Amino acid sequence: MSTKNRVIIHISQLEKAHVLDFEGVLNAEIFEIEDSEFLKMHDDLHYKFQCRYHVGGIELNGKVWTMVQSKCGRCLKEVQEKVEAELKLFFDEIKGIEDLDVTEELREELILEIPMNFICSEECLGLCPSCGINLNEKKCSCNQVEQKEPSVWDALDDLSL
Ligand SMILES: [Zn+2]
Ligand SMILES: [Zn+2]
Repeated sequence: MSTKNRVIIHISQLEKAHVLDFEGVLNAEIFEIEDSEFLKMHDDLHYKFQCRYHVGGIELNGKVWTMVQSKCGRCLKEVQEKVEAELKLFFDEIKGIEDLDVTEELREELILEIPMNFICSEECLGLCPSCGINLNEKKCSCNQVEQKEPSVWDALDDLSL
């Protein structure tokens, strides 16, 4: 990994300025996540945060985000979704440190926000478990069997004779 693909806070600079704003991108290779059918991370890691100097440490507030490609867990349609994480970090061991590298923290906070399961919409009907048809596009006959009107014969079936 190249040394350029890092976010580094120069402590003496921050001590002088007291507050510094950071905004930019890290190349997607930072994620170190292999492509899979259900997760592709090809977008950059975007960051925007503010650092504040305190005598006892450095406070970092802001956010990180990226666009991920996945598949709907119900109907398998391709979906693109923004994943965003709030940053509220405090670094208290800064004595004797000149450059504070926060790249790992930004990466970890964002990865923690990736959901286990994406869905294309709350209303997605998914695939029929019997015939595999996409129920958002078509109805199948398996579904109709389930939805038939209850009859007196069903009630009789439930009786143990
Ligand atoms: Zn879906
Ligand atoms: Zn079906």
